[in-house]
Amino acid sequence: MVEQRDDAAWVALKLQADDACLVPLWRSRSLLLREATGTLAVYLAAHELPVDQLLQPPTLLGTDDKRTYFAVSVSDAQREQILALHPEAEFADLRIASIEMDAKHAGILAYAKALHYWQHRHHFCGTCGNPNRLGSAGHRLICSNEECARETYPRIDPAIIVLVTQGDACLLGRNPNWPPRRFSTLAGFVEPGESLEDAVAREVYEEAGIRLSGIRYVSSQPWPFPASAMCGFYAEAEDRRVRLSDELVEARWFTPTELAAAVRDDAVRLSPRVSISFRLLADWFRQQGGGDLESISRRYRARP
Ligand SMILES: [Zn+2]
Repeated sequence: MVEQRDDAAWVALKLQADDACLVPLWRSRSLLLREATGTLAVYLAAHELPVDQLLQPPTLLGTDDKRTYFAVSVSDAQREQILALHPEAEFADLRIASIEMDAKHAGILAYAKALHYWQHRHHFCGTCGNPNRLGSAGHRLICSNEECARETYPRIDPAIIVLVTQGDACLLGRNPNWPPRRFSTLAGFVEPGESLEDAVAREVYEEAGIRLSGIRYVSSQPWPFPASAMCGFYAEAEDRRVRLSDELVEARWFTPTELAAAVRDDAVRLSPRVSISFRLLADWFRQQGGGDLESISRRYRARP
């Protein structure tokens, strides 16, 4: 897909094709359809949103062999037109909605939202202050001042997320800004000059006063809320003494049995199943003989 970004003729052709899927974003909100079985992404056909009426050129996201996806920013008036065509749909916050979405389509919407966020925060050149213009089908911003011509690319802020274990238990914390009973793995941003492992050790010490050993990278996930790459780790605590900081109101150790009971009793609500936080926890839970955490949390999810 990268090689097509600078092929304006190819992009224009694909935009008018029957398989073009427009991913609309209105004020950073995605077009969604909520159904009893989950939330669906709503895409627009090219004729539903004429390209010549767009606020800015569409951003090429990619193709899945059947369709080509483009992110488009829509105005307030266009939002009304779109909702008239799709009266069941709504523009809503993807971060909450993605909990109940298919991973592929949640990923497409997240990618669109990440590029949209970046484009809308870089209207002007950071060097000379002149307006930027979009290039490379939305993946590059170029200063309109020809003397400067500075290029800007999407920025990603690395963040770490870690499941801390000690013996047969894992540590989950509660952030003061989260909804009641939500517990999760600990996470934070990587600071300049740090390795990812340094960031894991510092963050856990700052948040919970715990010293770590055996810090081990597992996998990563794009996290465009607004612009992170989340890098997942396992680590072992020296002991279970916790010293809470302002970033946590509570931190508790759970064995697999205790965690399953807390989820069943609705004393603990876990992160969305699509999140790397949930995956780290579910993999540990399975390795500890706890079984399938996803089916346990799914069964006890639909409560007020
Ligand atoms: Zn400039």
